[in-house]
Amino acid sequence: MIRDAAPAEGQSCDVLVIGGGIFGACAAYEAASRGLRVVLVERDDFAGATTANSYKIAHGGIRYLQHGDVARVRESSHERSALLRTVPHLVSPLPILIPTYGRGMKGKAVLRTGFKVYEWLTADRNRGIDDPARRIPAARSLSRAETLQRFPDLPSDGLTGGVVFCDGQMYSTPRIALTYLQSAAAAGAVVLNYAEVVSLNVEEGRVRGAVVDDRVDGRHMTIRADLVLNAAGPWAGGLLRTAADLDLGPERPVFSRDVGLVTRKKLPGSLGLACPTVTRDAEALVDRGGRHLFLLPWRDYTLVGVWHGPWSGSPERVSVEPNELAAYVAEANEAYPGLGLQTSDVAMVNTGLILYGAADESSSEHHFGHDSLLLDHGPRHGLEGLVTLVGVRSTMARGMAEQAIDLVLEKLGRPPVPSDTETRPVWGGDFDVFDALVHRVTAAAPEEAPFSPGVARQIAHNHGSRFSDVTEIVHDDPRLAVPYPGTSVLPAQVVHAVRSEMARSLEDVLQRRTDLGTAEAPSEPVLAAVADDVAREAGWDEPRTRDEIAAARDFFAERGATREFGHAPAEGAA
Ligand SMILES: Cc1cc2nc3c(=O)[nH]c(=O)nc-3n(C[C@H](O)[C@H](O)[C@H](O)COP(=O)(O)OP(=O)(O)OC[C@H]3O[C@@H](n4cnc5c(N)ncnc54)[C@H](O)[C@@H]3O)c2cc1C
Repeated sequence: MIRDAAPAEGQSCDVLVIGGGIFGACAAYEAASRGLRVVLVERDDFAGATTANSYKIAHGGIRYLQHGDVARVRESSHERSALLRTVPHLVSPLPILIPTYGRGMKGKAVLRTGFKVYEWLTADRNRGIDDPARRIPAARSLSRAETLQRFPDLPSDGLTGGVVFCDGQMYSTPRIALTYLQSAAAAGAVVLNYAEVVSLNVEEGRVRGAVVDDRVDGRHMTIRADLVLNAAGPWAGGLLRTAADLDLGPERPVFSRDVGLVTRKKLPGSLGLACPTVTRDAEALVDRGGRHLFLLPWRDYTLVGVWHGPWSGSPERVSVEPNELAAYVAEANEAYPGLGLQTSDVAMVNTGLILYGAADESSSEHHFGHDSLLLDHGPRHGLEGLVTLVGVRSTMARGMAEQAIDLVLEKLGRPPVPSDTETRPVWGGDFDVFDALVHRVTAAAPEEAPFSPGVARQIAHNHGSRFSDVTEIVHDDPRLAVPYPGTSVLPAQVVHAVRSEMARSLEDVLQRRTDLGTAEAPSEPVLAAVADDVAREAGWDEPRTRDEIAAARDFFAERGATREFGHAPAEGAA
């Protein structure tokens, strides 16, 4: 992907997608792969907002069984399978233990029955998934002794054992969005980061495109489009107000602030743990006594979360206060004392807004958002040529994009074109077995600079079957094959990010193109070395490089609990 605004400016396209989070990325891919001329604009970097803050579960829908919602169980499982099939380098099954207590609703019999029903409802979940390591197995029971062997510090009073089930886990949510964008670009879409929609062009009651601020060269450009798809996530409602003078009133989306923690504490093994907490799920038909807090192994870290709370402030100001963080850490320790978590163990706080299930944000009970929002503003608000898509879970992005583009084709008066995105591998997803891919990456290293197993795996995860994009750079210059100290990331990946993945800032490289800053702040020597490599590739002078380093430090200070944290005062914090 080379950033080039020229093909978008002044030209007419079929669909202009606003927002380069996972929903916009999937929509652009879906539209381009069905033959539409697409432009996508993202005002900051791709996937930099809610998408980067995800807790990384590819939800298979087991929770909806508790709500008696079979359609959603099926839909979630379907989308998790699509991810495991088409984005196999970045999504894999993760086994999670649910401890069982007593003989009642928290007991093993109820849980086993639940999983039996789930497995029956999702019997097709492994269809078309060739790699055995990407298939979701049936849940299995553990005895009390086996459970305590795996998690010796579980509260043992009344413990009867546990049930291990698998859900999907995403290796990197920004790279999943990027892989959809690369697929869209390969299918002909023009995708631009740092391009902000400032107004929509409305002619005779119909949206005809948008005025876009190109934040790279400071120009205003007009992009003409037969249809505009607003995928601006938590900003979607505000955008309609400011750019199209459209107030959704009571239909406006209501959001909750979600929080997940990346911690340096390690779980005792490779299993995740679902711990019951005191907070109840207001909608559960089968109430097992409190919702679950998840402790999940992810790379070299443990993810802890997720906390939900109503939010009425602006999306710009979403943050977590130090006292809230302390409360989360205390709740995590109560749920699993063995973790012994302290706020100083928190490497990064992920937070953002997601659609809330309640009609207003003052509701005190937990209502998980279930439905994504797909709004055709023609019949609803008399404004043709405009559709809004706000998604509830990144797991559902591909499926919702498919529905949105069905609607777009209909609105454009085009014949229906079937979607193939649930089976066609994305950019980098075209391989059979992940472990064999890792061998191929290892074999592609230059003789004078062999890859360690960790480096080869990391490249396979991030670049999938497109690993040669990196190894070719390494062959040209083997010095770029030596990982940054204490990491498995190669300078060649940084060069590739700037050259071919539209990274424009140091933060883009650290947080969204490589593993260098997705879990915690890189060390100062790594920060300096990466900044030098980016500067050389992008042609930055010294002052620019210094500014970039300062901006990156600021970001990590705001998100890392070990330093001063939570700069922005929370507005209407939960
Ligand atoms: C803490 C947390 C944990 C989560 N965990 C999970 C999980 O485990 N599994 C799961 O499936 N989902 C999870 N989610 C939900 C998931 O992350 C979201 O559903 C998803 O990322 C939403 O994507 P999006 O594209 O709609 O929004 P965003 O990622 O916010 O993208 C919207 C984009 O629009 C851009 N934009 C806004 N205004 C303009 C404009 N004027 N012009 C151009 N661009 C504009 C923004 O810059 C932004 O990049 C979690 C969310 C949070 C916050």
